Formats: sequence, C-alpha cells, structure tokens
Amino acid sequence: MKSVPELYGSLVFNDTVMQARLPKDTYRALKKTISQGTHLDLDVANVVASVMKDWAVEKGATHFTHWFQPMTGITAEKHDSFISPDGSKVIMEFSGKELVRGEPDASSFPSGGLRATFEARGYTAWDPTSYAFLKDDSLCIPTAFCSYGGQALDKKTPLLRSMDALSIQALRILRLFGDKTTKRVNTTVGPEQEYFLISKESFLKRPDLVYTGRTLIGSRPPKGQELEDHYFVSIKSKVSSFMKDLDTELWKLGIPAKTKHNEVAPAQHEMAPIFETTNVGTDHNQLVMELMKSIAGKHGLACLLHEKPFAGVNGSGKHNNWSLATDKGANLLDPGDNPSDQFMLFLAAIIKAVDVYQDLLRVTVASAGNDHRLGANEAPPAIVSIFVGEELQDILDAVEKGEIYHGKEKTQMEIGPKVLPHFPKDTTDRNRTSPFAFTGNKFEFRMVGSSSSIAEPNTILNTIVAEILSEFADKLEPSTNFHDDLFVLLKETITAHKRIIFNGNNYAEDWVTEAEARGLSNLKTTIESLPSLVTPESIAVLTKHKVLAEEEIHSRYEIMLENYCKTVHIEALTMVDMVRQEVFPAVIAYERELANLIDKKGGKYNVKLEDTLLTKLSDLTASASLKLDALEASLLNAKSVEGALALATFYRYTVFNNMSELRLVVDEMETLVSKDRWPYPSYGDLLFSVLH
Ligand code: ADP
Ligand code: MG
Repeated sequence: MKSVPELYGSLVFNDTVMQARLPKDTYRALKKTISQGTHLDLDVANVVASVMKDWAVEKGATHFTHWFQPMTGITAEKHDSFISPDGSKVIMEFSGKELVRGEPDASSFPSGGLRATFEARGYTAWDPTSYAFLKDDSLCIPTAFCSYGGQALDKKTPLLRSMDALSIQALRILRLFGDKTTKRVNTTVGPEQEYFLISKESFLKRPDLVYTGRTLIGSRPPKGQELEDHYFVSIKSKVSSFMKDLDTELWKLGIPAKTKHNEVAPAQHEMAPIFETTNVGTDHNQLVMELMKSIAGKHGLACLLHEKPFAGVNGSGKHNNWSLATDKGANLLDPGDNPSDQFMLFLAAIIKAVDVYQDLLRVTVASAGNDHRLGANEAPPAIVSIFVGEELQDILDAVEKGEIYHGKEKTQMEIGPKVLPHFPKDTTDRNRTSPFAFTGNKFEFRMVGSSSSIAEPNTILNTIVAEILSEFADKLEPSTNFHDDLFVLLKETITAHKRIIFNGNNYAEDWVTEAEARGLSNLKTTIESLPSLVTPESIAVLTKHKVLAEEEIHSRYEIMLENYCKTVHIEALTMVDMVRQEVFPAVIAYERELANLIDKKGGKYNVKLEDTLLTKLSDLTASASLKLDALEASLLNAKSVEGALALATFYRYTVFNNMSELRLVVDEMETLVSKDRWPYPSYGDLLFSVLH
C-alpha cells in the first residue's frame, strides 16, 4: 500500500514530473506559458508532447484525448491511440501539434446557432495551466473548445477570459496601494459538492432516476429528515468504503479532497476539496462528479447529483467558495486582524458588483433541476443577497456614517487609510441561509446546483467584480488626494448598494416582502431569470471585458432555453411511460383482485374495506387518467409553440404543472396499493437502503 503523499498526484503530469523529465529550456518555456500565458512554440510543444507520451505509456496509457467542457455541462473526450505504423510494426507517437490542438467533430455539440453563422468545425486548444492527467488508460489533456472563427463553444474559454479580466483590473487596484511587484491576481475556488448515494439495485428499478436523475413520482416515507439524525453522524460502512475509494482516486489525480461527511437528508453526503485556482478547481470539480458516479457503481451504489432527486427532503447544491489571491499567495479577501483600506475596497467592489449584476449572477445558477431547490426553504431563495456578518456590518455602517468605529474590543479606529479595527474573525457567525455569504476570508456562493459546472458562476463573478474594480481604478488613478477620494468612494458605494446586504434569515417569509421593498429581484424560476443574460447591461459588461462576444452570449441564451425544454420534455415522457405502462397495470390488477373478492364474499361477509378501497382507487385512476391525457396533450401542443422563450415558458407553466398534478394523484395511489404490487421501490427503500 502506498502512502497518501506517494499516491498524491501520481496520475498527473504536474510540475514535479515536468521539472524532472523536461529539458531545462523546455521546462522554462513551458513555465512561462503557464504563468504568463505566452505563446508556446511548436518546437517546445514537440518536446513536451514526446516526454508526456513516454511518461503516460510507462504508466500503461495507450490513448490520448483532448478533454473539454462543451455546453452540455459534462466533459467530452475523443480518444486516439498513440500508435503509428512503422513498417510492419507500430510505435507510440505523440506530436506537439496533437498536444496543442485537436479537431473533434463540433457538429454534435450544442452551439446555440453559432455554427450556422460561422464555421461548422471546431477545435480544442490545450490549456497548459491545467495539468494533463491519466484516466482509464488515456492521457487526458485539458483543453478549451472553440469554433474556427474563435467563438467559444465551451465553458472553459470564457472562464479563462474572465480570470484574465479580473487580474488586469485587480492589478490596477493593487498598484494604487503601492504594490509594484504582483504580476497576476487569480481567483480561487473550493466547491463543496453534495450528493446522494442509494443502492444501485433500486436505482435501476426506477426509470425516472435512470433517465432524469430525479424521482418523478413517489409518496413520502413515514420518516424523512425530520429527526435530523443523519447530519454528521458516523458514516455507514458501505458509504465509508465508497468515500475511501473516492478519496484515493481523487488524490491520485492531484485533486485535494479534504472533508467528507453526511448531510441533512438521509442518504445525502458532501465532499469538500481544498481550494485551487478557479480553472483548475473547475476542471477538478468535473472530475469529482464523474468519479463519484463511476466509483459508486463499483460499490453497488448509484450516486445522484441531481439538485432534487427526492421531493420532501433536502436537495443538493454546491457551495462555491470564492476568493482572490495574488501570485504570491496572498488572499485579498482575508481581513486579517485589521481590515485594511485595500480589503475594504475589494469588499465594496464585490458588494456593488453583486448588487448591480444580481440578475446576471442569478442566471448562472438557473436550471430545471435547481428550480426545485432555490427558494424551497432548504436552499437559498431565488433572491440574491449578501451576508457580511456583524463585525463587518459595524465597519460598513461606520464608513457610511463617516463615524469613528469602535471595534468589538473597543479598539478605536480612524476611518481612512489607517483603518485598524481589531477584527475577531469568529464574530462572523455562520448564516447558513444566505445565498452569498462572507465566511471569514472568502465568499461562499450557495445558489449553485449540485450537478452544474461551476464555470459559469465563476465566469460571471470574475467579470462583474472586474468591472467594478475597473470603475474604481478609473476614479482613483487620477486622484491627487487618494486618502480622501478613497473614503468618499467607499462611503458612496456602501450607501448606494447596502440594500443587497442582508444578515437575517433568508428563509423567512418576511424577507421576500422586505427584499421587494428594497428593490431586489426575485426571479423565481429559470424562465424568469434567463432573459437577464441578454439585457443590454449584461451584454455590455461581458463584451467590455472580452469574456463573451454578443453572438456568444445569444448562443448561450439559446442553449440554456433549449436545455430547459429538453429536460422537462424527457421528464414528461418518462412520467407518461411509467404511469401508463407500469402504474396503471399494477393498480388495475389490484382493483381486479378487490372486485373479485367483493364478488365472492359479497352478501355473505362484510366487504366494507374492499369496497372503500376499490371506490377510492377507481376514483383516483379515473382522475389520473384525465391528468395523464392532459400531460400528453400538452406535449403535443408544445410542438406548435414558436420561439425559444415562449416554448420554455410553455414547458414550465403547462407541461411541468401538468406533471405536478399527475404526480399528486399517483402518489396517493401508491399509499393505497399493496406494496408488493407497486412497480417501483418506494422512497423508504431508496433513502434508507444504504443505511442498513
Ligand atoms: P466550512 O465553511 O465548511 O466550515 P472551510 O473554511 O474549511 O469550511 O472551507 C470550505 C471550503 O472553502 C473548502 O472547500 C475550502 O477549500 C474553501 N476555501 C477556503 N479558503 C478559500 C479561498 N481563499 N478561496 C476559495 N475557497 C476557499
Ligand atoms: Mg460551506
């Protein structure tokens, strides 16, 4: 057995391997590309490729693949073997050209109309800032995916662009505070991943879970999460051996899995990694999701990443911990003991960015799956707001009033460049209900869905913060009285944007009314929120910082609407099949049995029970049949709805509503039909099977 340090990163072509194996010049050139984004010469790429291939082949690899994240939200791979003919034999070959550029067939990936207007073909380009790694005998090369016209067809390209934008603007700010040496500011991310584990056997018996990732029918079990006896309890052995395996596989890939524990709902768990640079953290989160699924399978389990696999118990999210760090490793959102002016400026910029672009941020977490979660008293509401905690709130209040701040410890502080309150970090008590919470030295964006890529939320966060930092830099760079002008800027910003700060309970009904009075948006579903992606304000900020061009934004909007419609469509078809092909026959068979019994016993014995049951069931089947017809009819009607937004709206407010109505009746039937006749494992079977 290898020790963890020996194991860690053993499947990664990382810095240690590069340093040990690459010729010095090549290593230096590659490092320059990695740290400064300089162009990589083909000569250098050839050497890197050949060394990479030798390393991979030694470890048993036979293939290589460009590994990328198209707009489907999952990762894509196309495997080529290293073999190259050499007379009657083959040799293993891999060129620099193959390393830096690939040409998958772009036509099978969503492009939201980009391909029609531009080029049908697409190419993948190596992102050398994310290390190559080995997976299933293949050398995987993390890449960006673009059309030949250069339009992004993936989630990574805009993320990388947004990181550049943020770095440029953050450096301008650092210069204002006298920092002349920092060359790059990166954003960092640590995504806490929630998931469910159920037995594979019961999973395979549920077409809804297999096709859609969530249960479309199912009545509540007698026990749910009300006893709250699952959270943090000791992990059951089956689950714990899964987690152990997962950790090992993640560590081999250099993914810093750190904590694991049970979550609130039965069968729900969480894994949190140590934070990394955002693009690497994003790649790693994709791998985490993929490995969770495949490793679960090996343990006789199924891993559910859907935002809401079960009605009535908590759904799953992803807490996107986000911060800014210099290339020297300094965390710009760490207030330390004494929040500096520089910290206050970054904080003010984030507050303003989230307020001004709250709707755009909301778009990045919109999906059919997440609609079940946001605002459902378990996850943050659909209203975006910021939690800063008591201590920071006091400081912000003082800045706003221009008063002298007396810290909690009564340390006197002077407003201005010498802002030095004692800042006891522990007073930022945890508010679990906030969608965007300051948690000591980072912000935690909690609205992200468990199954979604974290690329988009981070792309937008980076971009909107870059925008406000650029506004601040524009104001302060020409200043001749930096101290006073900075103070005025902070005061103005806080006064104008404090409405976005809410330290109270986000689940409370009152908050909805108060947020409305404050003028905050409450975009309840995907349908309400998606149009915010294509407003003039959103387009302006994304194009100004060269994160997405206007046509790229429109293409993404189309893809998101299309994804929404397809998701609901598949759910509806699955539900129709389940109800018509299995639920109805089961209920009818049970009804027949009851009717026969009434016939036989009638007149002689008391058949009240059988009679009542049969009456109830036949009323329910009659009602379910009407609702099923309505659902099917709405699916047909969907075909004649024109326009992507209108169609998505139809799916949400007609098809989806019809599904909900049908579900109510079917779930009631489940409570009346004998358990051995019901065609599917019950909620109780699903949620408690792994525990025992
Ligand atoms: P919790 O909120 O669960 O008590 P931690 O402070 O340990 O937890 O962190 C939760 C997550 O936040 C972890 O994934 C961690 O890596 C991440 N995190 C911590 N610091 C940063 C940072 N500077 N930038 C981004 N993520 C961070
Ligand atoms: Mg957390």
